Amino acid sequence: MKRRGFYIGRFQPYHNGHQSVLERIAEMVDEIVIGVGSAQSSHELENPFTGGERVLMITRSLETLGCPFYVIPIEDIQRNALWVAHVTSMTPPFEIVYSSNPLVVQLFSEAGWEVSSPDMYKRETHSGTAIRERMLRGEPWEHLVPRAVVEVIREIRGVERLIQIAKDDR
Ligand code: ATP
Ligand code: MG
Repeated sequence: MKRRGFYIGRFQPYHNGHQSVLERIAEMVDEIVIGVGSAQSSHELENPFTGGERVLMITRSLETLGCPFYVIPIEDIQRNALWVAHVTSMTPPFEIVYSSNPLVVQLFSEAGWEVSSPDMYKRETHSGTAIRERMLRGEPWEHLVPRAVVEVIREIRGVERLIQIAKDDR
C-alpha cells in the first residue's frame, strides 16, 4: 500500500516556499496529492491565475522531484463544514495532510485526519501576497519562484494581466 500525503494551496503563484515544503514531504511519503484550491477563480487581484495555469506551474516545477505526484484542481464550495468531504471526493486516497494554513488544519483535524504542519520557509518574502505586490509595483519577484514558474508567467503574460486588472475605470 502506498502512503500518500496531501498538500493544498491556492498557489497564486506557486513559489519557492511551496517547493521547499513539497521537497520535504517527498522524503516522508510514497506519493503526493496536491490540491489546487479556489480552482474556479482567476483574473482577480488575489487570484490572478487560472486553475490550469497553476497546474502547469506546479507540474513543471516538480519535474525532477523524484516522487510521484498528482495535481488536482479543487473548486470552492462556500461551506467549510462540508469542505473535507468535498476535497476527498475529488482526490486519490491519502493518509496524512500537510498544511500550515490554520483553517485547513482545523477542518481536517476535526474530521479526524492526521495533520502535520511543516515549518515555513522564509515566510516574510515567500508568500503569494508578497509576490503579487512585487509584480504590481514592478519590483523583482523572479528569484522567489522556481524557474519554471517564471517561464509560465511570461508565457501567459501574467504580470501584464495583474497590472491590467488592478486598474479602475475612473
Ligand atoms: P497567499 O499570500 O496568496 O495566501 P501563500 O504564500 O500563503 O499565498 P497559499 O497558496 O495560500 O500560499 O498556501 C499554500 C500552503 O503553503 C499553505 O499551507 C501555506 O501555509 C503554505 N506556505 C505558504 N508560504 C509558505 C512558505 N514560505 N513556506 C512554507 N509554507 C508556505
Ligand atoms: Mg495563504
